[in-house]
Amino acid sequence: MLQDSVYLDHAGSTLSSKSLMDAFAKDMTSVLYGNPHSASSPSQRSSSRIDQVRVRLLDFFKADPDQYDLVFVANATAGVKLVVEGMRSLPEGYVFAYHQACHTSVVGAREEAQQSICLDNTGVRSWLDGVDPFKPTTSGIPARLFAYSAQSHMDGRRYPISWAKELKKREAQSSSRTLTLLDAASLSATSQLDLSDPQFAADFVVLSLYKIFGFPDLGVLLVRRSAEYVFNHRRYFGGGTVDMVLCGDEQWHSPKSYSLHERLEDGTLPFHSIIAADIAISTHQRLFGSMDQISAHTAYLRRELCRGLHSLRHANGNPVCHIYSEVPDDAASIETGPVVSFNIRDSRGLWIGLAEFEKLTILKKMHVRTGGVCSPAGLASALDLQPWEMKRNLSSGIRCGEDSGRFTNKPTGIIRASLGAMNTKSDVSRFLAFVREFFVEDSIKVPNQVNAITRKAGTTNIQVKAITVYPIKSCSGYTVPPGVRWEVRPEGLAWDREWCLVHRGSGQALSQKRYPRMALLQPLLLFNDNVLRVKYRGSTPKGQPTQVDIPLSNNHSLFDTDFRQTSSRVCGENISAQSYLSEEINGFFSNSLGVPCVLARFPAGGRGASSRLSKARMQKHQRTEKAQSGQPSPFPGVPSPPDSDSEQQQSQPGKILLSNESPILMISTSSVEMLNKTIMETGESAVDESVFRANIVVEASPGHNGHPAYSEDMWRRISIGNHSFKLLGACQRCQMVCVDQMTGERRQEPFVTLAKTRRLNGKVYFGTHMRHEQLEQDEESDGLSPTIQVGDAVVVDEEQGEEEEEGIPGTGGNR
Ligand SMILES: *Cc1c(COP(=O)(O)O)cnc(C)c1O
Repeated sequence: MLQDSVYLDHAGSTLSSKSLMDAFAKDMTSVLYGNPHSASSPSQRSSSRIDQVRVRLLDFFKADPDQYDLVFVANATAGVKLVVEGMRSLPEGYVFAYHQACHTSVVGAREEAQQSICLDNTGVRSWLDGVDPFKPTTSGIPARLFAYSAQSHMDGRRYPISWAKELKKREAQSSSRTLTLLDAASLSATSQLDLSDPQFAADFVVLSLYKIFGFPDLGVLLVRRSAEYVFNHRRYFGGGTVDMVLCGDEQWHSPKSYSLHERLEDGTLPFHSIIAADIAISTHQRLFGSMDQISAHTAYLRRELCRGLHSLRHANGNPVCHIYSEVPDDAASIETGPVVSFNIRDSRGLWIGLAEFEKLTILKKMHVRTGGVCSPAGLASALDLQPWEMKRNLSSGIRCGEDSGRFTNKPTGIIRASLGAMNTKSDVSRFLAFVREFFVEDSIKVPNQVNAITRKAGTTNIQVKAITVYPIKSCSGYTVPPGVRWEVRPEGLAWDREWCLVHRGSGQALSQKRYPRMALLQPLLLFNDNVLRVKYRGSTPKGQPTQVDIPLSNNHSLFDTDFRQTSSRVCGENISAQSYLSEEINGFFSNSLGVPCVLARFPAGGRGASSRLSKARMQKHQRTEKAQSGQPSPFPGVPSPPDSDSEQQQSQPGKILLSNESPILMISTSSVEMLNKTIMETGESAVDESVFRANIVVEASPGHNGHPAYSEDMWRRISIGNHSFKLLGACQRCQMVCVDQMTGERRQEPFVTLAKTRRLNGKVYFGTHMRHEQLEQDEESDGLSPTIQVGDAVVVDEEQGEEEEEGIPGTGGNR
């Protein structure tokens, strides 16, 4: 199952743990372990095993049990929280300094502190040289806590283990005492954490065992005995941490006093996990030898990866990767752990958006982290992001640096590959080959498009081949039968995307991107029966209905007036759709997809929060960019297709229903054919045009050659029959086009080929958005709604380059 994946993410050693899981299963099925808090023998067995594992783990980190205690916690974060709980309960509270490379979970400790500062290397250095970083406090002498990472989880850079010792030495002459919290979660994953090192003096150490062994999901907090007093004022006590509790008039309790871990491990210990940790250590040592061997192995891989990325060049000589981690020279560098973070640029130096990169990694099963990677200060520093830029990114919908598509002058996050014990040289080669395949421009390619206007506008050799509406967002389409005239409304084709399925848990509208089986839900509009009939084409358990009828009428009694009225979300936008009450209807969809969901309706003609605005737009910069780059003009760039979860874009008024971006999506058969030709040249099989989920497909009229592939990129205004349509820009695509609409299965095409031939500024385009345009003469006509049908002639009335200001949003009036 995992053979074809390349896993370059922190917790990657999970993959090595089949033998661990087998050994664990064997232990669990042959020995009875009880909840440790009793006298029974299964319980005693657990207790003694836990004590044993505690000692073994201390030994694993070379920690002397006389000097350190080890506290089991859920993860590294929980270890930080315990320290914070102790610090904040100290009579005078605490002040907090943290290094810039700290993880978010460590930065959070500042919220309980009376004062906090973020230090870079220079700041730490000058503190060690005697410059106190804290502002004098007015009342009392608070405790001091300094936190830093032994190794940055963002770029692998290591920070001196000796800092805590230097700080102690420095403070020996002064009255202040600073406790040090060392975050060893990243370092300990691939190297020996050595608490016996004479330079080691941190008071608290946190780390996650799953990053070392893959399993169990458990963390540890190591506390230097001389710093145990920090927990003396901790107020909360949990079961198992006290010897006696009085609850009458006198409220009193007696904490356990033998060891610190007894007092801090609240409630039942995760004893099965702790036993698993024991087995994990043995398995790990058997498979990989020592941590030093892992360290040498991963350092070698890191060097290969770093050099490989560093050496990638576009045809014009420009580098492909901007690497934030240190690029090692020949000597095995010990200053940097096996983490490589970088961003990718195209041959012109423009940043490749993370969302775009991620789509391709998903298709190619390359597992890396992208975004802000929980390193807020480190990221801001590496990317030179100012606070206002980060806030702007957040308010424009970028969470944790997930996409740099919007502001291409600076990336908003990074790509991070981190190597673990189980990674091989072949993983590195395959990842490098992947970056080469999609991001290195060997020749300065022009995206596949029409090269010149080969025809005069106004000729009519194209016609409507098919009209499809998608009544339920992300489900299969309903093909309008030939001979039926279909109504076109300002917000799109009649009955298109009026319904959606909403997850009962999250309130999110479901999408095929996540639930490809939605393609198997086949809607039929049966106007004579006044129902939308939905059939499920997949297999259903015996006795379960394979179809359901939904009334087309908008009767209020059908709807739940309370359920999530306002909290349904489509593409990150709050909408107010009405959920159906019928258990028959909701049960049908939930059972078919295996996802708890309700059907919701978003009726046409809504207002306010119950209507959405079209986001499709031409990009203003097209022309300037054309002039700058000397390339033929790119296709107009707009967001993504209907139904996908898309990143948010600037909106431009124009009402739509539940489609993502624009009223109507059109594709042409000649472009599909051209794309398929390219796909077949790579040995893959052609894709069906249904994957593009268009509303209108146009083709050559009988006896004509039709239009060149991709000429729709250039169209600005067309007529279908005698109705005018304004084109709103090319349609941005995601990997949802890889879902086979007949089988609901995912494949790699056509996105792989589109990404190679139709990508511009990090975005992939296919098809075009448009909307009906009400012309004055229409209004004077008989008052009937405009309609179109299969076979209608399509006339291109205007193409790019014919008029001055076309392509600029908001100027397309009646002329
Ligand atoms: C992973 C990581 C953490 C957080 O660990 P959790 O187990 O998620 O709590 C903290 N710091 C660093 C350096 C890490 O790599």
